[in-house]
Amino acid sequence: MAVTCEVALINSQNLSKGEVELLGKAHEAAANAYAPYSGFQVGAAVRLKSGTVVLGNNQENIAYPSGLCGERVAVFAAGAQFPEEEIESIAIVSPSPLAVPDAFMPCGSCRQVLREAELRQKTPIKIYLQARDEVVMVSKSASNLLPFSFTIQNGVFK
Ligand SMILES: [Zn+2]
Repeated sequence: MAVTCEVALINSQNLSKGEVELLGKAHEAAANAYAPYSGFQVGAAVRLKSGTVVLGNNQENIAYPSGLCGERVAVFAAGAQFPEEEIESIAIVSPSPLAVPDAFMPCGSCRQVLREAELRQKTPIKIYLQARDEVVMVSKSASNLLPFSFTIQNGVFK
């Protein structure tokens, strides 16, 4: 079984205007994150096929497991508000000094949620990841970030 994990590191100056705008919206969302416990602000911007952008940011809670990551807030908000629309791409960013500058990655649960969103809509979701510097990690699919995700085949989880 071959496993691929293809991601590209791209300088933000080489991104399109639309890509830069999406990252900018994710940074705006990060500024509104509620992260008093971790101090790790995350913002996410989902672009739907229609062009609509849905924002999310991490929402923590003193009862720790009750909070939710920023990218999941965005993906779930998109699913709740626009259930029939495909997610084209998502930008996920963190300005936190705790984030690894050029290797900022979603947690495993968020990778699984992104992968299942792809499987539901039957098209890949392009993912942009950025911390504090100009380098943006780009993946053409969540499958690159979680090659061994749960999947359903013939009604059975694999
Ligand atoms: Zn997460």
